Amino acid sequence: MQINATLINLYHVCKRQMWLHAHGIRMEHNSEVVAEGKLIGETTYQDRSQKYTELQIGKIKIDYYDNKNKVIHEVKKSNKAEYAHIAQVKFYKYVLLQHGIEGASAILEYPKLRQRHVVEWEKGDESVVQSWMMEIQKLIAQENCPPLEKKNICRSCSYYDFCFSGE
Ligand code: SF4
Repeated sequence: MQINATLINLYHVCKRQMWLHAHGIRMEHNSEVVAEGKLIGETTYQDRSQKYTELQIGKIKIDYYDNKNKVIHEVKKSNKAEYAHIAQVKFYKYVLLQHGIEGASAILEYPKLRQRHVVEWEKGDESVVQSWMMEIQKLIAQENCPPLEKKNICRSCSYYDFCFSGE
């Protein structure tokens, strides 16, 4: 299976969630959080499409790429900066490198927090990203989904009912 940014992100959020997503098991999103996120995408960053291009490399899509300055912009609707976001952006940087695009930088943007974080590419990151990809492939190949691990994020997860109906 082709590893994409969503799987990288979910792998860092919850391995069970990543497995469910990879196996095409979807639950309805009807939470206010999702609606709000959509709104942020549609309003706050309306002019982005004029400034940045969507970059498609194989099946990997970077929504906002500043081609002139070689900057990956990743917009997050959440009100908390998380390592999963950094991991996603590092994966983009990895994909660019694999396709001969060197020297790109990356910025995570949090409109709700009014914050921007530069994501540094550190020595050894290439093998770190490769290890995530290998681990994800292994997990996806498992017949059963990883066991439930109760986390703070469970209540706002679309798989909450799926995971906790028998609890
Ligand atoms: S409800 Fe919790 S354990 Fe289940 S997929 Fe979501 S985050 Fe993971």
